[in-house]
Amino acid sequence: MRTDFSAAQLANPALEEANDILRKCVHCGFCNATCPTFKLLGDELDGPRGRIYLLKDLLENEATPSKKVVTHIDRCLSCLSCMSTCPSGVNYMHLVDTGRSYIEKKFRRPLPERLFRRLLIAFLPHPRRFRLLFRLARLLAPCRRLLPGRIGHAVGLGSSSKPRAMPSPPTARHDTGQTVGLLAGCVQQVMGVEINDASARLLARLGYRVQLLAEPACCGAIEHHLGRTDLADKRFRQNIAACTRHIDEQGLTALLVNASGCGTMLKDYGHLFRNDSVLAPEAGKISAATLDIVEFLFDRHTLDRNDEMQDVRVAYQSPCSMQHGQRIDRQPVALLEQAGFTVQELPEKHLCCGSAGAYNLLQPHLATELGKGKAAYINATSADVVASGNLGCMTHLRQFTGIPIVHTAELLDWATGGPKPF
Ligand code: SF4
Ligand code: SF4
Repeated sequence: MRTDFSAAQLANPALEEANDILRKCVHCGFCNATCPTFKLLGDELDGPRGRIYLLKDLLENEATPSKKVVTHIDRCLSCLSCMSTCPSGVNYMHLVDTGRSYIEKKFRRPLPERLFRRLLIAFLPHPRRFRLLFRLARLLAPCRRLLPGRIGHAVGLGSSSKPRAMPSPPTARHDTGQTVGLLAGCVQQVMGVEINDASARLLARLGYRVQLLAEPACCGAIEHHLGRTDLADKRFRQNIAACTRHIDEQGLTALLVNASGCGTMLKDYGHLFRNDSVLAPEAGKISAATLDIVEFLFDRHTLDRNDEMQDVRVAYQSPCSMQHGQRIDRQPVALLEQAGFTVQELPEKHLCCGSAGAYNLLQPHLATELGKGKAAYINATSADVVASGNLGCMTHLRQFTGIPIVHTAELLDWATGGPKPF
């Protein structure tokens, strides 16, 4: 694609990167075929190729974003399916993040939208505040249909789990002499404590000393994907300091993540700080140390088969941030099969379920359509349980199916001696 940035614009590293990304696009449109919003809405501007043109125009002309342009960019899930499909290696993720940041600076959203976004930023990344909000959501759950649109939807989502305190990590039964850090997450340390419990037990059983890390709580993805580069940058810097301290002081073998959205973000720190003369080495070290728990286990272990699991049929739902964001696809299925489960993958597994970070709160109608589509495939299986690798997908999909949905680590924990998770 021909671009026309001025020399002054190219002196800005974000625009220089956008220019490099845009130039790789040959406008073939292959990406449209695997884009969930293009499939749903059939509008060129709701597909990656159309959005790339919109972003090019916006950034090149330093235009004030119109409501129409913002609508098409807001409808993008950042699912990154287009990146898996693109034959030219267009890094849509970095391009749309630059576009989102530009929009937040130049476009004044209507007041309710601004307030809702502020609410998300004020609560989701902060476990203590989020715990209070979560308790309130559970109290309001019976009357959620009386609440206005997005608030009612959020209350419905939040009331599907019970808050619990974070557990202490178990002691390794045999000791490999290696210590791993397990990030407790922000929303997850409130809504998905059982996932952290199971992950810690599983790792301890395999001989690792586990440090459950309450800090850093949030990886920064919420602020980053909402275009609040200022807040995200501050958080990234705090997280780089905290993670570096953990790695150095505790001699961590790896920083393990069991929420794939967070893993994708942490693995990008090295890129985001590549031009920072002070933080580039530490950010790169954190990205290199970050591994999804299934990636870590698959590379280091072959799990013992538990024959009692062979009658348990598992449908595997592949989170976008895992399959497209981190290119981890086969590993979770292989681990489940090693442990003895009968695993079935879903048709059109590349399509997003609609959860996509805070997307299901910001775009509830599209998210619901995508969730129902994914759940139709789940419900058509004869599965006893669904395995996933991201709390967001699990919480979102529970609205549309009666089949229990648990984390892959919970099933692996069960098969290797832990409690049944459903
Ligand atoms: S597949 Fe890649 S090169 Fe083709 S239009 Fe999409 S982003 Fe551009
Ligand atoms: S990130 Fe997902 S929703 Fe956005 S353009 Fe790419 S495929 Fe479409």
